[in-house]
Amino acid sequence: MKYYSTNHSVPEVSLSEAVVKGLAADRGLFMPEKIERLPKSFFDNIENLSLQDIAVRVAEAFFGEDVEPKALEMIVRDTLSFDTPVVEVEKDIYSLELFHGPTLAFKDVGARFMARLLQYFIGKNAEGKTVNVLVATSGDTGSAVANGFLGVDGIHVYVLYPKGKVSPIQECQFTTLGKNITAIEVDGTFDDCQRLVKSAFLDKELNAKMLLTSANSINVARFLPQAFYYFSAYAQLKAMGRGEDVVVCVPSGNFGNITAGLIAHRMGLPIKRFIAANNANDIFYNYLQTGEYNPKASIQTLANAMDVGDPSNFARVLDLYAGKHEVIASWISGTTFSDAEIAEAMKKCYEQTGYVLDPHGACGYLALKQLLKAGETGLFLETAHPAKFHDTVVGIIGKEIEIPERLQEFMKGEKKSVAMTSDFSDFKNYLMN
Ligand SMILES: *Cc1c(COP(=O)(O)O)cnc(C)c1O
Repeated sequence: MKYYSTNHSVPEVSLSEAVVKGLAADRGLFMPEKIERLPKSFFDNIENLSLQDIAVRVAEAFFGEDVEPKALEMIVRDTLSFDTPVVEVEKDIYSLELFHGPTLAFKDVGARFMARLLQYFIGKNAEGKTVNVLVATSGDTGSAVANGFLGVDGIHVYVLYPKGKVSPIQECQFTTLGKNITAIEVDGTFDDCQRLVKSAFLDKELNAKMLLTSANSINVARFLPQAFYYFSAYAQLKAMGRGEDVVVCVPSGNFGNITAGLIAHRMGLPIKRFIAANNANDIFYNYLQTGEYNPKASIQTLANAMDVGDPSNFARVLDLYAGKHEVIASWISGTTFSDAEIAEAMKKCYEQTGYVLDPHGACGYLALKQLLKAGETGLFLETAHPAKFHDTVVGIIGKEIEIPERLQEFMKGEKKSVAMTSDFSDFKNYLMN
């Protein structure tokens, strides 16, 4: 399968090139040239399949031409060493819990898949050159990618994160690992980190010296596998007799997660409509209202993994609907919430249902409370475990919550990071030497 750039000004590339390059040479994002519609028989029987079985079928649609079937099945099953259960929170509102992986956030799925696919491709072309993965994180990406790639031969990971803007629990998940993982603490915002990474990919001198790739959600190997759990969520709802008129609500930052859902929909998944739930970073919300896309500096919020002022995957959303605002707005509605609204939703939901939301999932829950219509089934993506934001969550709901053991393990390690300014020349110097 070939992958084209959303800017359409460079030739199409192979899967391995798209995965290693991350970003197209014209700064566009790669898209698969074909999005296969899965047959009716698959959906008729889907409620009898496990997440892993569903994922193998969906993965074939994208990667089946480029990865041997046995290897692909292994990559998928090894990636999904955990489940993504759908849980009823209250009447008509369900949570798709994506936090049962090793770093307790949905990004484990894409990061684990990408590490394994990259390893497969490196094994095929035994040039013996180290692949350097650069990843900017506003919190959860860094931990998912670092853990997904930890100890993988032939790969070195650099995690760039904004100093003082990620929670201590998030930070220890990528600064205490050692081995092939280097944490870089940037004196700036997440957008600065993202800019440093993008500039590195476009720097000729740097690329002549070392093999660089990205593990941000712009990478097709990270973003496409996120389609797996949309199918599984539908299967679970269908098994509960709630497979009709499903509205899927995605707490969104860089819009990789929701784009994977839109792709699942294009593959025939019967979802009625989508909601993109935003925090105070309301760029997409404003786009839906006005048809104009005006990136802004990101604003720091309680839901910090969604603090994005210029969502990378917006280009893919546009591409999927040929740039037509009215079509995009007919499939996706938007919401934007202040920190006070997020906190209130967390508190009320806990008091009324006993369900503990994290600040990101809370945006999804609240959006459904506001926009779900009679007869619809609402599903929001609970994108991280609340314990990842322990102090915030406990402060809001007024009750202690349990920290899962695998999270406690990270907190025992010693923090190691490299201090960096937000100036590209400093970052380049560091990598060159
Ligand atoms: C990354 C992240 C998001 C945003 O996902 P995008 O794919 O960037 O839209 C939402 N919630 C959590 C917990 C995250 O880590």
